[in-house]
Amino acid sequence: MDFKIVAEYFDRIENVSSRLEMTDILAELIAKVPKDEIKKIVYLMQGQIAPAFEGQEIGFGEKLISSAIVKATGFSRKDVDERFSKTGDLGTTAEQLIEGKQQGSLFVTELTVEKVFANLQRMSTRGGEGSQELKKKLLAELFNSASPTEARYIARIPLSNIRLGVGDPTIMDAFAIMIAKQNDKEFEEKKEDDRRKIKIELREQIENAYNVYSDLGEIAEILKEHGMKGLANVSITPGTPIRPTAAERLPSAKEIIEKLGKCAVESKYDGFRVMISKDNDKVKIFSRQSEDITDMFPEIIEAIQTQIKPKKCFIEGEALAYNNETNEYYPFQITIQRKRKYDIEKKAKEYPLKLFLFDVVLVDGKNMMNEPFRNRRKKLESIVTKGDIIELSEMKIIDDPGVLEEFFEEKIGQGLEGIMAKDLDAPYIAGARKFSWIKLKRSYKGTLDDTLDLVIIGYYPGKGKRTQFGLGALLVASYNAKKDRFESIAKVGTGLTEDTLVELESMLSKIVSKARPVRVISEVEPDYWVEPKYVIEVRADEITQSPMHSCCKKEGKGLALRFPRMTRQRGDKLAEQATTNKEVEKMFSIQKRVSMDYRQN
Ligand code: AMP
Repeated sequence: MDFKIVAEYFDRIENVSSRLEMTDILAELIAKVPKDEIKKIVYLMQGQIAPAFEGQEIGFGEKLISSAIVKATGFSRKDVDERFSKTGDLGTTAEQLIEGKQQGSLFVTELTVEKVFANLQRMSTRGGEGSQELKKKLLAELFNSASPTEARYIARIPLSNIRLGVGDPTIMDAFAIMIAKQNDKEFEEKKEDDRRKIKIELREQIENAYNVYSDLGEIAEILKEHGMKGLANVSITPGTPIRPTAAERLPSAKEIIEKLGKCAVESKYDGFRVMISKDNDKVKIFSRQSEDITDMFPEIIEAIQTQIKPKKCFIEGEALAYNNETNEYYPFQITIQRKRKYDIEKKAKEYPLKLFLFDVVLVDGKNMMNEPFRNRRKKLESIVTKGDIIELSEMKIIDDPGVLEEFFEEKIGQGLEGIMAKDLDAPYIAGARKFSWIKLKRSYKGTLDDTLDLVIIGYYPGKGKRTQFGLGALLVASYNAKKDRFESIAKVGTGLTEDTLVELESMLSKIVSKARPVRVISEVEPDYWVEPKYVIEVRADEITQSPMHSCCKKEGKGLALRFPRMTRQRGDKLAEQATTNKEVEKMFSIQKRVSMDYRQN
């Protein structure tokens, strides 16, 4: 297939903003792509040349791409840099410069998807042929034959940022539409509601397949070749990661027991999640994002061979650095140092890992995903032998909130992150966040349960719909009792009902101050300062350090609230009775001690 056709579709996709329209155009493109090329197109759209777990990255720097543009267009490095600083995108830069170059040039060889892909593959880090010079040559060769639009995408692909706005969900939707149209020539004539139902059903089946086999290129090829019935053969396979299940959160032991009844409660370890596939002597370790991280953990590979009985299996757990001298877990900041590409052996000696296994989804060819958790856990217990590195996660069956609470406190006392409660009857739900796992951590047990009473020190008139109320957000402060000052801690724009907005606006507009009131310390400037008088109750996800806010500021860093929302007015409190800096500091230190929630999900 000509790459030009693909680039033109990409261009159309890039230029629409509605996701529905984008999906329709994409569905049209994938219907056109021959089945032996669909894999490549899907990987390119994902900014890859192979599924993520194969680790074949083409990612290389802007410098090299700029040099290839220079080589192909004859423009100077300075021209390229200047254009790039104007456009901010090397794709557009390549497009514009190729356009300039092509004036006057009559013959251009057509680029095929095959050719583009082959050159990119030769440039890749794994299995690629290497030198920077060769990489530049291969890329310049593509630019030489590219139309301006093609050049835009050729430049962006090696940056792993094709900027189409198309993620995996959109690709799956597009496949659902393509299949729906193939199955029923009158699909387009159906009512919108019916079309949506058909699409959702197909999409669900496609996603189920993707969840247990995270190679969307391969799934696409199966769909092109065999249609939906081909998906019946897609199953968990050693060597190919599944998409991990995720945990919901509830704020208390009581709510967890109400939701799950009798459940398994495990220690929640604060390391990194690993999915391990064992296929005889081939062991692979995957991260939560499905990257292949096998090479990083030699001691785990060794332990899998000695401590895990089955020849073939797929198991999951949390790895964390452990201090054998003191028998203590290291904090997350230390453990994360083991995720590295260099000095692996040295760091492995310094910070050896322990692996706590908590699930099994495949044993000797038997798919265990649909087995209830109680059976999977039993199986897991039967396949691990004693050793220094691999252990089972600590687990208790609990049906009483008081007992759960005690277990939680005990774990916090041991420096763990909290607990993970699991539904004994649930299957392994790949790729989704459902209530089959519920986490409870100190950060939201402590901080979330605690609200703060904060003083309004300023406000911002609303934007958009809120203009009519004259109030959109509040600047609030905690109380520094020692200095008798109010120090800014957050800007609160959520949790405000229309009635509250109206009421607060009328209260605050009466106490507006032209300049910052003297008792107020804040580098954040609201549109209107107000005298510190009114107190509101605020709930937040977390207390974080921030250079913006003045609360407890030391060495340029203050304390601030993450995701603050107003819960109610505290008309019963004077400004000086608001939460003090000292309290905020205490809350922050408890949170810091027990919850190292640096991860992003
Ligand atoms: P979070 O990262 O806070 O969303 O919590 C979910 C993560 O906790 C999982 O992805 C695992 O990496 C980790 N985890 C630690 N201990 C366990 C456990 N016993 N069971 C399941 N996940 C665990």
